[in-house]
Amino acid sequence: MIYWIPNNKKKKTITVTIDDAYLSFYEVGLPIFEKYQVPVTLFLNTENVGGFNYMSWDQLRDSLRRGVEIQNHSHTHSSFATLDEEAIMSEIETSQNLIFTNLNITPNLFAFPFGESSDLAQKTIERYFDAAFGQHSGAFSMNYQYYIPRFPLNENYGSLERLRDISKSLPFESAQLQPSNPTLNPPSTRFVLDVEGGVNGVNCFIADFQGSIEKKMTVLENKLLIELSRMPVSGRLRFNCTKVDNDIFWYGHQYFLN
Ligand SMILES: [Zn+2]
Repeated sequence: MIYWIPNNKKKKTITVTIDDAYLSFYEVGLPIFEKYQVPVTLFLNTENVGGFNYMSWDQLRDSLRRGVEIQNHSHTHSSFATLDEEAIMSEIETSQNLIFTNLNITPNLFAFPFGESSDLAQKTIERYFDAAFGQHSGAFSMNYQYYIPRFPLNENYGSLERLRDISKSLPFESAQLQPSNPTLNPPSTRFVLDVEGGVNGVNCFIADFQGSIEKKMTVLENKLLIELSRMPVSGRLRFNCTKVDNDIFWYGHQYFLN
């Protein structure tokens, strides 16, 4: 999928990915995707295979035969935000080996468990994969090759209306939020967003586990200085920055705070 999208001549394309290989994907989801001929990519964490409510290797082999693309989602589904290099390599090598042994394929894509990452994690997985995905909202762009956003579609964010809206979003030509390290240590209330083409009309929604965070935004040398009204709490801190003109441009970033 990853090679097809950037070279695709059509302006707007969506692709569907599913994480964790729950049994419900095999029993409920897959027949529906097949019925409507929607291609899907399944990100697999290998330790759970065959466990309660998870798919077995037989079911994964059957899914492969039925056209599902299977890619890597680690072995133990630990957060990569806090793992050291050795632990990350072990996660990847264990899962790649199990997938090759049981499915005879070698994944070239990765999805971070919980969408949590760090500079170290991204540098380490570059050796094994062509690209990697987070779980933060945003339009697909190869500018963020080892932390590509994906729009979640779940119980809370699963309406058809939302699907229609997000499927219309486009990436900025280039957007960069500083600090760029997805593990934010030490915590900070100051961020800078740099958008090619300028930050006029860009608005950001910022939230952590306590909810949305008020902020002050100032344009400085064509960049957007964002100052939060309070220190973010531990866990995930998400930025959603959008600009609406004829299209909706959407840049997202997720930080993890210890
Ligand atoms: Zn997962």
